[in-house]
Amino acid sequence: MLEDQLSPDEKLIRDKARHYAQEKLMPRVLMANRQETFDRNIFKELGDLGFLGMTLEGKASFVAFGLVAREIERVDSGYRSLFSVQSSLVMSAISLYGSEDQKKSYLPALAQGDLIGCFGLTEPTHGSDPSSMETHAKATKGGWILNGEKAWITPSSHADLFIVWAKEEGVIKGFILRRGMDGIETPRIEGKFSLRTVPTGHIILTNVFVPQENILPKASGLQDVFQCLNYGRYGISWGALGAAEFCWHQARSYGLERNQFGNPIAATQLFQAKLATMQTDIALGLQGVLRAGRLMDEGRCPSELISLLKRNNARKALEIARAARDMLGANGILDEYHVIRHMMNLETVNTYEGTYDIHSLVLGRAQTGLSTF
Ligand SMILES: Cc1cc2nc3c(=O)[nH]c(=O)nc-3n(C[C@H](O)[C@H](O)[C@H](O)COP(=O)(O)OP(=O)(O)OC[C@H]3O[C@@H](n4cnc5c(N)ncnc54)[C@H](O)[C@@H]3O)c2cc1C
Repeated sequence: MLEDQLSPDEKLIRDKARHYAQEKLMPRVLMANRQETFDRNIFKELGDLGFLGMTLEGKASFVAFGLVAREIERVDSGYRSLFSVQSSLVMSAISLYGSEDQKKSYLPALAQGDLIGCFGLTEPTHGSDPSSMETHAKATKGGWILNGEKAWITPSSHADLFIVWAKEEGVIKGFILRRGMDGIETPRIEGKFSLRTVPTGHIILTNVFVPQENILPKASGLQDVFQCLNYGRYGISWGALGAAEFCWHQARSYGLERNQFGNPIAATQLFQAKLATMQTDIALGLQGVLRAGRLMDEGRCPSELISLLKRNNARKALEIARAARDMLGANGILDEYHVIRHMMNLETVNTYEGTYDIHSLVLGRAQTGLSTF
């Protein structure tokens, strides 16, 4: 059992996260999703609990981080995305590639939730292939001039700080931009049917002057971007299972209460076979992420293992949510049962930070030595 494999500290952190997620996030998720409203206070709350950037400087284990992601995503993948972007993408980028001054200036405020960060990699015409990005940086007196457009950035429309990746003479470099710099626009993307509890937007850069002290001095190429994405994908692998567990438990409870043909639908063999598949995929997935977390803590987790787990757990969670939706019959499409929301969210989880197919190609390349992309 997973429980037996966690340290007392990890259990304490997990219980704190579960209590917060169930007491504070669960009551507001239905209306936040229905009305697409974003609550900025969530950053402060996560900061007060010590969850933002919790693995930095060894404050908590990667397993503890994964357990928090799982509890938050048990409520909503959008809320977990906020936690992941701030911790794994933004704070990790500054921690890994920033100067000492940058770390002192930004990390404490990001950890407290006083600053909201976002990570701008994807562009309108370059998603799976970020190496072809068009956003570019040109050296100028005292700094850089940035031009370009990032798309699908969480939560750019409400962010105070932007990690932006841009090319300078063919080399990808990282920059810290702040809201208020001239030439930045961050329109929100409307009409999303997934991750509705968090805003997603563009970052449009028109001749933005970025001072020299805002370049990430130690970032020098796509491999550094992928290092941040590795942390993000690891958290997703845990989080997706939290959403899946919610859907599994919801289907089981519903099946025990709902009678058709004079018996609970959970008394049918077909219903029980679906529950068994859910239980199996979740149990195996949890053992996988636990092992990956232990390897991360030892500093020896291969990126291919993260690809394998992100690809598999996001897809299995999506399949579990779709099955649970069906098992709830018509009620399955009502948001008050929460399964349809998880199902729609997991479509994004399956797509972002490397689609299912892109991770297939990563694994195929590792097995054959032949790159298809
Ligand atoms: C809600 C949401 C939030 C997001 N947040 C962020 C964020 O904060 N920061 C950020 O930088 N990005 C973010 N993204 C972007 C996300 O990472 C990209 O959407 C993702 O990488 C896929 O890129 P794309 O949408 O351009 O799809 P494409 O790359 O155009 O892919 C479309 C389809 O083609 C397939 N495909 C592509 N290339 C190949 C190939 N060589 N062989 C076979 N199949 C292929 C893909 O698997 C996919 O099925 C977010 C996306 C969403 C939906």
